[in-house]
Amino acid sequence: MPGLIQVWRFYCDYCDHSNATLKAITAHERTCWRNPQRRACLTCEHYCIVECGHPDRPEWREVCDSDADIPLEDGIIHNCWFWEAGCNAT
Ligand SMILES: [Zn+2]
Repeated sequence: MPGLIQVWRFYCDYCDHSNATLKAITAHERTCWRNPQRRACLTCEHYCIVECGHPDRPEWREVCDSDADIPLEDGIIHNCWFWEAGCNAT
């Protein structure tokens, strides 16, 4: 008969990430892109994903619609001066 074990997992308060130790998940939450305290793009009102490219082969691009028009081609950022709480900042 197969054995059965029960394990505890700790979950991030902001995303679906989990870990076996509280220490690891606490460290993750400090750097989680969905933690509003980081003032990152993923929780910002100005973060948008727009469709671009050819209609037959649509592509999507991340953009910042703030007055700063921060270029996100190289990736999202955090600790942004123009960050405003968006609908994902809960
Ligand atoms: Zn997280």
